[in-house]
Amino acid sequence: MLLDKVDPRQRAWVEVEPKAIEANALAIKNRLPQDCLLMAVVKADGYGHGAETVAKAALKGGADYLGVATLQEGIDLRQAGISCPILLLGNLIDSEELNACIDWELMPTISTENEAVLSQKLAQENDKKLSVHIKVDTGMTRLGCELKDASALITRVDNSSFLDLQGIYSHLALADGDFEGEGAKITFQQKQKFENLLNSLSLNSKPVLIHLANSAGTLRECNLNYDMVRVGIALYGYSPIGDLSKDLVLQPALAVKAKITLIREVSAGIGVSYGHKFITKRESRLAVVGIGYADGVGRALSGKISVLINGEFFPQVGAITMDQLVIDITGNTEIVVGSVVTLLGKDQDKYLSPFSWSNASGSIPWEILCAFKYRLPRVIV
Ligand SMILES: *Cc1c(COP(=O)(O)O)cnc(C)c1O
Repeated sequence: MLLDKVDPRQRAWVEVEPKAIEANALAIKNRLPQDCLLMAVVKADGYGHGAETVAKAALKGGADYLGVATLQEGIDLRQAGISCPILLLGNLIDSEELNACIDWELMPTISTENEAVLSQKLAQENDKKLSVHIKVDTGMTRLGCELKDASALITRVDNSSFLDLQGIYSHLALADGDFEGEGAKITFQQKQKFENLLNSLSLNSKPVLIHLANSAGTLRECNLNYDMVRVGIALYGYSPIGDLSKDLVLQPALAVKAKITLIREVSAGIGVSYGHKFITKRESRLAVVGIGYADGVGRALSGKISVLINGEFFPQVGAITMDQLVIDITGNTEIVVGSVVTLLGKDQDKYLSPFSWSNASGSIPWEILCAFKYRLPRVIV
């Protein structure tokens, strides 16, 4: 028979553990006040883990809501049979998108008067009620309406017969940075601005979910929870605020693995890979691994990371190329062609974190996780 579907573990792959996601959702939910809802943020294909897998595991663990960035991400979850409330965190700009929200029962985020007017018009034409959340900018300076316009926008939506105001939210800009000094100051300014606005409102719609915190805001004990928190990175098992107190354990849910495709013995003084950025200092045993920057192992990591094989660390050497990279296994004779290399995740009692990559390349774990491409099959374990 003609081979048309390669074994997902043939070359390089991502392993995802839904049980870890479920446990993280449960652990986070258990720490929230009783009536505070948990939105699992599953945008960017569930931070590279597979949106459907993550969404289902998070809901099992007690998540109440899902958050995605794009219309397509929302539709994909609906097509996977997921029926919980889904909020689109990005902005929709045309009628086709907003009509699809009505059809698929997805909630758009409204940031402007124009968006509110258009949404209302489309809902009216469809003779349906469209549920929406309004976003207010309190200091992120990205999406969200200006604070001075917030009251009028909220009142318009609140009074509309065709829009159902389900939530009012804002987004923190500095909660996951260095929180000593500026981080705390700006975060509390945002909180204050948000609360001043909320206190000035008297709404017809009830209940309206108030939400502000991302993972960092949720994990810092700063009373940023309100009626719902929007948790992304922590759901996947990573703390954006450094060490957590012992009562909250998060389990990383992802591992990146690849196989060795060639082993070669070279003498001292040999240049390795593009640009010969690494020159062997001794007689060396080098192994080629079938994964590269086209799979999501950024070229900026060249020569700065280690990998794990059978519980032992080995350095990556030379430039990371599009489809492969080289590691130095000098001194080891047990590794063979076909041996499995762990680039991220656990191997025996050792562990490699996306933080080690982001620290090495000046990135952030969020970017590392969502960089894993279609070429890496997601294997559920
Ligand atoms: C991505 C996103 C989140 C989740 O952020 P994490 O830091 O990963 O928890 C929350 N809210 C909004 C608006 C987002 O875009």
